[in-house]
Amino acid sequence: MNIGILGCAGRMGQMLVREISATEGAMLAGGADHAGHAQLGQDIAVIAGLPPCGLRLGSDPAAIIAGCDVVIDFTHAAVAPAHATLAAKHKTSIVIGTTGIDTAGTAEIERAAKIVPIVWASNYAVGVNVLFALTKRLAGVLGDDFDIEILEMHHRHKVDAPSGTALTLGEMAAAGRGVKLNDVSARGAARDGQTGARKKGDIGFAALRGGDVVGDHSVIFACEGERVELVHKASSRGVFARGAVRAALWVPGQNPGRYSMADVLGFTDEVPR
Ligand code: NAD
Repeated sequence: MNIGILGCAGRMGQMLVREISATEGAMLAGGADHAGHAQLGQDIAVIAGLPPCGLRLGSDPAAIIAGCDVVIDFTHAAVAPAHATLAAKHKTSIVIGTTGIDTAGTAEIERAAKIVPIVWASNYAVGVNVLFALTKRLAGVLGDDFDIEILEMHHRHKVDAPSGTALTLGEMAAAGRGVKLNDVSARGAARDGQTGARKKGDIGFAALRGGDVVGDHSVIFACEGERVELVHKASSRGVFARGAVRAALWVPGQNPGRYSMADVLGFTDEVPR
């Protein structure tokens, strides 16, 4: 399977180059980054700390998309939807890891998914996808006597908050209670000053940023007298790259549509779309 990478010189892009190089059945087909990137023209394997592979970092996403079976996008929320549109134009499957995509961007990806199969997951780690399923189940079992708070911590470079994974955890908790996240969460409003008491049924979010933390997520269910906590800690970006490459090997044979990592893994508890 020929796999192209968009955002190839980024933290995840480099990890993907290493993962594809080490995965049987996966072939690096090329990589692009944004037009002003300082490493344009350099060998993408060398950028990732490997021996040269003969493929140079480009800046034209269309050229990469046209030359591969599937493209993996770990770029920026402002451009990932346009990459999905380009993938649809070239009938190339796409795996999207980029987070922080707004409603208009989501609609653009949904349109592209009518033409090509797209895997779009806020988190490609297998353990996190198990956490999604457990969160949904626990929220349903415990009911709204338990307040739900979602806490995440990431490295100091992360630009969006709460993390896409935290939001998916919120959606899973809401789904477990049979409600929509937007109806039970004021996630845009950080708690600061005279916030008033917590509203019953709310799902709260808190985001910490610092150092090189790859990604920690806790879902806390708290009621009078007891507390249940589900915790996941990623210690290497390799888990995201491994999952994304697994999705890239799976998606090209699928019908057009939007798929989650749960679909790739064959879980029955699907992430809400
Ligand atoms: P990063 O900043 O290290 O890398 C992003 C790369 O995209 C950079 O090299 C940047 O130059 C490039 N880029 C920006 N605009 C571009 C454009 N127009 N065309 C091509 N490339 C462009 O960030 P990162 O840590 O690698 O994360 C990238 C994204 O992936 C973020 O949204 C992050 O939240 C998300 N992420 C998702 C998962 C997951 O499992 N879904 C895991 C880790 C990170």
